[in-house]
Amino acid sequence: MARIYAIANQKGGVGKTTTVVNLSSYLAGSGYRVLMVDLDPQANATSAIGYNKNEIDPSTYHLLLEQARATEIRLRHEEFKIDLLPSHPSLAGAEIELVHVIGREYRLQRALQTISGEYDYILIDSPPSLGLLTLNSLTAARDGILIPVQCEYLPLEGLSQLTDTIYLVQEYLNPSLRIRGVMMTMYDSRTNLSRQVVEEVRRHFPNKVFRAIIPRNIRLSEAPSFGRPINYYAPHSPGAIAYKLLAMELLNEDRRNGGGEHAG
Ligand code: ATP
Ligand code: MG
Repeated sequence: MARIYAIANQKGGVGKTTTVVNLSSYLAGSGYRVLMVDLDPQANATSAIGYNKNEIDPSTYHLLLEQARATEIRLRHEEFKIDLLPSHPSLAGAEIELVHVIGREYRLQRALQTISGEYDYILIDSPPSLGLLTLNSLTAARDGILIPVQCEYLPLEGLSQLTDTIYLVQEYLNPSLRIRGVMMTMYDSRTNLSRQVVEEVRRHFPNKVFRAIIPRNIRLSEAPSFGRPINYYAPHSPGAIAYKLLAMELLNEDRRNGGGEHAG
């Protein structure tokens, strides 16, 4: 059975998509079978590995509306060895179209059941909001939520909003939802603020913050426009090395906590 993680933070631009794409790529590069799920109408994860988001049809929109199965929308990227459930801007309409549907928060969870056995890791990219798409992502996240936090703002207000949502999801939708880990992104070693933010987040989430810290690195922001994950675009850059360390840390912890259940 796959480990299923949602990457979520309702704050925009904190590095969710960058983390999903590069973590997926390093996990795939280590031989793990990886499925990336793009549940954001911006479809940035879809385009970051080279697909033209405007030409995607069918997409996760059709998946959530149960007009297509996961196997029917899935794309296989041979070079990066990543499978993708791609998004399209039309996904924005799903929130509205599902308003009166009972069980609308479980659509992704159900759709993934049929294919999760084919993977070791399923990583779900979420939009910058706490709406129905993020709820689907959190409900499907059997093994927890990964929260990227940008080191450039003191984030605690936003984080308590997110932890409140996590409690609500635990209570009503997915009792086993837990915070799997917090990753610090866009760290700037020249500023005191970055250091303060890391300290504060470590206090707020004891034992949850990954040791690997992602620096602010121009290569990471360039790579998506070339449609390539960082290990293909600039494998020796500081950003690449940090994401590789993050992937190794996640893998090591998962292996340690794994039991036999998730062997892959
Ligand atoms: P959204 O909430 O809009 O989905 P997001 O949380 O997915 O945003 P990203 O798209 O990953 O955030 O990152 C926001 C912007 O910052 C992008 O242009 C990305 O290329 C850039 N970026 C992300 N991480 C880094 C980094 N470590 N160093 C430099 N630029 C970065
Ligand atoms: Mg994003």
